[in-house]
Amino acid sequence: MAVAVPFEEKTEDQKAITEMVRQFVDEQILPVAERYDHEDEFPEPIVEQMKELGLFGVTIPEEYSGMGLDLTTYAMIVEELSRGWISISGVINTHFIGSYLLLKYGTDEQKQKYLPRMATGEIRAAFSLSEPELGSDVQAIKTSARKLDDGTYEINGQKMWVTNGLRSALVFVLVKTDPEAEPRHKGFTCFIAEKEPGVAETPGLTVPPKIRKMGYKGVESTELVFDGYRCPAENVLGGEEAGLNKGFAQMMDALEVGRVNVAARGVGVAQRALELALRYSQERKAFGKPIAQHQAITFKLADMATQTEAARLLTLRAARLKDAGLRSDMEAGMAKLFASEAARFCAEECLRIHGGYGYSKEYEIERLYRDAPLLLIGEGTSEIQKMVIGRKLLERHRI
Ligand SMILES: Cc1cc2nc3c(=O)[nH]c(=O)nc-3n(C[C@H](O)[C@H](O)[C@H](O)COP(=O)(O)OP(=O)(O)OC[C@H]3O[C@@H](n4cnc5c(N)ncnc54)[C@H](O)[C@@H]3O)c2cc1C
Repeated sequence: MAVAVPFEEKTEDQKAITEMVRQFVDEQILPVAERYDHEDEFPEPIVEQMKELGLFGVTIPEEYSGMGLDLTTYAMIVEELSRGWISISGVINTHFIGSYLLLKYGTDEQKQKYLPRMATGEIRAAFSLSEPELGSDVQAIKTSARKLDDGTYEINGQKMWVTNGLRSALVFVLVKTDPEAEPRHKGFTCFIAEKEPGVAETPGLTVPPKIRKMGYKGVESTELVFDGYRCPAENVLGGEEAGLNKGFAQMMDALEVGRVNVAARGVGVAQRALELALRYSQERKAFGKPIAQHQAITFKLADMATQTEAARLLTLRAARLKDAGLRSDMEAGMAKLFASEAARFCAEECLRIHGGYGYSKEYEIERLYRDAPLLLIGEGTSEIQKMVIGRKLLERHRI
């Protein structure tokens, strides 16, 4: 495997960029995250600064005005951003998946048209599989597209849980194009649906008010209602000839890198919970000594630190395998499963360590406790990860 450094080390470039992002998080995100979260407000000034830092183009090649960095470095950046607030990484995650899809499957025209403006963050992307009646069972997609006499496609149907659904300018949307296909996934196509960002009505496409959520606030998750939405044939991902009815495999591939991204978010949340627990447990006294000195609490800290570190190593391993062009489907599933569960575990342990204050909105841990469960669900639930891991395991060890 083409890995220049041991897993725990960063290259000089990786150190420089993650230190820069950490400083940005400490100075610009952590001091204001609670306010944005409590008001469920989109963090526009932070997003503007992220554009200036080039964070929307981390993995987009330099020829399209991006930074051209690899998935491993991206995962390190996502960990740092999520340590501040996972909603911030939510703003770039679907965008990152969109740029991955374009880079891997897009035509030259599609890349030229969208990637340079995506790299600067001038336009942002969402991706949309889920519908009101399905999430895990992607093959049950009902939203459909049919070709009209003028050569365009008309999309009809309802999508659900589209992160960045309102503010995005592009939605990579998976729809049914061949209702007769057997198996069903061979009849799905990914369209690049253009829309007016920040506006509820684009002809044929309505964005209802954002869904109210327990956590993951600030960044909007919306439904998308396609009703006679017209999409030119040139917006079939990869072009009509090569891309029609190829959408399922494209989206599943994108979900694999998406899982590394969610894993990195889990590491960030776990890391932050650990930091908060380490600080509070040394300040708070009970029975005449800091609670960190009570073995029950020391053990909690030890478990949290161990899970955080293991989650980080699994995440970096999956990213490095992908960067080296090696199989990483099972490893991405393992990283996602472990890191999201580690985030939930660490958030809860940190809350317990804070005692009653952990339940107060005055303390940051309350936000982490509400944010962490999203990671158990998005980009495939823990149960679905176990199915992926188990299936790949048996494939690799067939007797
Ligand atoms: C805040 C948020 C943001 C999101 N953003 C996006 C987005 O940007 N784009 C997008 O397309 N989707 C998005 N989603 C949707 C997300 O991907 C789905 O919620 C997720 O895949 C689970 O699907 P579901 O909610 O339909 O649950 P279901 O699939 O109905 O599952 C319900 C339960 O059944 C279990 N289950 C289902 N099938 C099996 C099985 N075969 N074996 C064992 N257990 C099973 C699940 O693990 C789960 O516990 C988002 C969701 C949330 C909450």
